Amino acid sequence: MKTISIVIPVYNEAQMIQTSIPQILSVLDSALLNRGVESRYAIELIAVDDGSVDQTAAVLLNMQQQEPRLRFVRFTRNFGKEAAILAGLESAVGDAIVVIDGDLQHPPELIAPMVRLWESGIFVVHAVKAQRARESLAQKLFAKAFYAVFKTMSGLDLRGHSDFKLMDRKVVQTLLALPERQRFFRGLISWANFPCAQLPFEVADRPDGSDSKWNRWKLIRYAVDNITSFSSLPLKWVTYLGVFTLLFGIVIGSISLVQKIEGKAMDGFTTVNLLIIIMGGAILLSLGVIGHYLARLYDEVKGRPTYLIQEDMTIKNTTIGLEA
Ligand code: UDP
Ligand code: MG
Repeated sequence: MKTISIVIPVYNEAQMIQTSIPQILSVLDSALLNRGVESRYAIELIAVDDGSVDQTAAVLLNMQQQEPRLRFVRFTRNFGKEAAILAGLESAVGDAIVVIDGDLQHPPELIAPMVRLWESGIFVVHAVKAQRARESLAQKLFAKAFYAVFKTMSGLDLRGHSDFKLMDRKVVQTLLALPERQRFFRGLISWANFPCAQLPFEVADRPDGSDSKWNRWKLIRYAVDNITSFSSLPLKWVTYLGVFTLLFGIVIGSISLVQKIEGKAMDGFTTVNLLIIIMGGAILLSLGVIGHYLARLYDEVKGRPTYLIQEDMTIKNTTIGLEA
């Protein structure tokens, strides 16, 4: 019997998971298990508690006692959704692994068609946002700009992509074998380029009406980190910027020199002012770009683990399937 693993990153979702986890399970039960004996699957649900400070862990523990197919891992603190996804993938034993948000913004009904595509030989099924959720104009523009820049720099078009995906075991093994620690799950899967299919979905509002767990700064940091982990173009641009400012300097310098020789030199206060500002800005920007890459290099070299586990309530290789 094959196993399907569902990985759910959760952070302060004590309220949400009380509806989302049972709903995910019941959708799976009705969609996958009632399709005749030969197509029965075992299901394991792995919730990764990303250092929640509310009752999430207690709720999960309670749910696990009634639902043996649910297991969970609990981090010592908030390591971020990427780390939670990674921990889930490392724990999962399934032949196919689905990553889904724990707030029902990703419709669990889509898992059944995902599994059918996987059965037909597709390795990765991307659930793609047909329309973005209730977001402000600024958020929409930010997302648009990020995907455009990301595409220019890495050549990967991730427009509409989400972390809601089904992956074959082979794809997950490939991802886990990559040595990098700071990961951009969505980007890495597209980069690996296994045969894939897309399924559109409408992003639901969070049923409890609460806000995203990502604030503006967290999102900006996430965007910059993802771009720099997929492209070193900004580093090369620093060189071009240097060449450009040098040429600019030579032109301005020559003009000043000629004016000086001809005795026509003005009191170039504005010119000097502008030059200092422009050059200073260019130098600081370049240093910043280099510094950012250096910081990433530093983080990778330090080799600290991507996450730390406080409690591991997953018992590997003991998936319990539903008996016929
Ligand atoms: N999440 C997480 N760690 C974080 C932030 C979020 O594990 O630091 C989880 C969160 O509990 C949810 C999923 O990631 O299950 C998506 O988060 P959210 O709904 O806040 O993001 P959005 O829907 O705005 O992308
Ligand atoms: Mg959400």
